[in-house]
Amino acid sequence: LFVDHPLREGQRVPLTRDQVHYLTHVMRQPVGAEVFVFNGKDGEWAVLLDEVGKRSGVLAVTQQTKPLMPPPDLWLLFAPIKKARTDFIVEKATELGVAQIIPVQTERTNSERIRRDRLQSHAVEAAEQCGGTYVPKVTELQKLSVVLDDWRADRALYFCDEELAGHGGVAFAERAPGEPAAILIGPEGGFTTGERERIGRIARPVSLGPRILRADTAAVAALALWQARQGD
Ligand code: SAM
Repeated sequence: LFVDHPLREGQRVPLTRDQVHYLTHVMRQPVGAEVFVFNGKDGEWAVLLDEVGKRSGVLAVTQQTKPLMPPPDLWLLFAPIKKARTDFIVEKATELGVAQIIPVQTERTNSERIRRDRLQSHAVEAAEQCGGTYVPKVTELQKLSVVLDDWRADRALYFCDEELAGHGGVAFAERAPGEPAAILIGPEGGFTTGERERIGRIARPVSLGPRILRADTAAVAALALWQARQGD
């Protein structure tokens, strides 16, 4: 269970109404039961369900059960697509391990708006389900042009380029441990010539194989290939 609260031995953690409902009605946990919580910063902790009311409750923190397992310092930049597929990208990126998820608006991006809080809750749920201890931050939708203008040279940017499909493999470069990096996936309609030119000035192109993948598949394939190469 994710709690937005510091976790230390002896700490008492207040529960929201939704958390009380989840623990007592969905998980059917009685008072005194041991459950496991994380807050994205302090690892995983065992807690006792100490007090339960109708709308509130309290957890008593006992001991740490897992250290924080931070993901690689890898950002995923992608152009939001249909709602369910955007949710899928956030969920899978959280499972596969990224530090930050940045939805970007490109010239051919369909959606002008995203529900950041909704996507952030998907990331929390995905981390809960895979026993993670870290939740990547989902940022507000940002203009790709602005993101590229502000790009810092110390973060390697890899651009998944479908135009390389069928022209042999171009893979992620060897990277020193801990070196910051980012992966950019384009929208369903691809990037415009102007965008490609702008991206090409700072990013290294990467191929995801000989077939053109849907953007959500491309995000999962890119992160899996990243792990195969970097081991994290
Ligand atoms: N509009 C493009 C077209 O029809 O040629 C296809 C865009 S594709 C559906 C969406 C994004 O997935 C691309 O912008 C790219 O970032 C990524 N992608 C898909 N297949 C890829 C491949 N084989 N190699 C690298 N990137 C790929």
